[in-house]
Amino acid sequence: MTTYGTGNRILVTGGAGLVGSHLVDAFLAKGCDVTAVDNFVTGSRDNLAEHPNLTVVEADVTEGLPVGDAPFDAVLHFACPASPVDFATLPVEILRVDSIGTLHALDRALADGARFLMASTSEVYGDPLVHPQPESYWGNVNPIGIRSCYDEAKRFSEAAVAAYHRHKGLDASIVRIFNTYGPRMRPDDGRVVPSFISQALAGEPLTIHGDGSQTRSLCYVDDLVRGLVLLLESGEYGPVNLGTEYELTVAEMAEVILRLTGSKSTIEYTDRPSDDPERRRPDLTAARELLGYEPQVHYEAGLKTTIDYFATASSPGRGTAAD
Ligand code: NAD
Repeated sequence: MTTYGTGNRILVTGGAGLVGSHLVDAFLAKGCDVTAVDNFVTGSRDNLAEHPNLTVVEADVTEGLPVGDAPFDAVLHFACPASPVDFATLPVEILRVDSIGTLHALDRALADGARFLMASTSEVYGDPLVHPQPESYWGNVNPIGIRSCYDEAKRFSEAAVAAYHRHKGLDASIVRIFNTYGPRMRPDDGRVVPSFISQALAGEPLTIHGDGSQTRSLCYVDDLVRGLVLLLESGEYGPVNLGTEYELTVAEMAEVILRLTGSKSTIEYTDRPSDDPERRRPDLTAARELLGYEPQVHYEAGLKTTIDYFATASSPGRGTAAD
């Protein structure tokens, strides 16, 4: 168990994204010196405050990590476009950042003697045949499907972490993140929460893919970040699922968001994309037993905060009343 604080140097790839920027804030609040590397392909510089202990480096991690020679205590690899819209528009970039980018991040952690944390995903379970999904489940992934650029790249990243851990002795950890949402998401990001909220606020129809009976478990970003810090500091290898057990159908999510926004938007049903997972809920036994993790933010509270953010942000990013 290592607690990170004043004097510790933390590197976060993808530090300007949804999860990365909240992680950066968490380590700055602990007194760490943080370096965020991001090429802003899906993140924004506006997601990061000016802070004396924060260095922001604009770079593509597939081309290396131009972050100086001073060693880091921890390397957190969170760079990767993560929404279904990105799977369609940035498939090669996703494959590269979660293969070449992962290897660069692993090499830097190894050279520095740093602890390494890999942001993996519930998508490694594919369209799961086991429910809820424990870490021991190997998944049901279509290797050539429209989501495969993401699912298989994350599976490669997990294999890379396993190899560096097993064969090179790297102090590493893998987290499998389930659907996480919160302030600083892009309204047009294509994930279900920002899509429904921005449609509801604009009075446009909420578009449900299929009949809306597919489920997702929504995790507010603060809960996820608390779990990530616990995992990093625990010294555990994992993989560990992080998320919540609030499993809602997509149709239920639409109803909740309509109620919380007070919107009169209607609902439209469109074709369901192929390989869209039917059910998603983490088995959190390992997170509870290894980390003492317990999600604390009910989805209604988290969605309300996110709605306030979308309603008040003139342009998405930091520095809004709801932030
Ligand atoms: P995001 O798109 O908001 O953040 C990703 C960040 O990585 C962005 O700032 C983007 O500009 C940056 N990036 C992408 N490619 C890069 C590259 N080649 N070089 C440098 N920077 C690059 O997504 P997010 O939701 O914050 O996801 C962060 C991580 O967590 C990703 O690895 C994602 O796969 C993982 N994850 C997220 C979720 C979720 O529900 N939010 C679920 C599972 C896994």
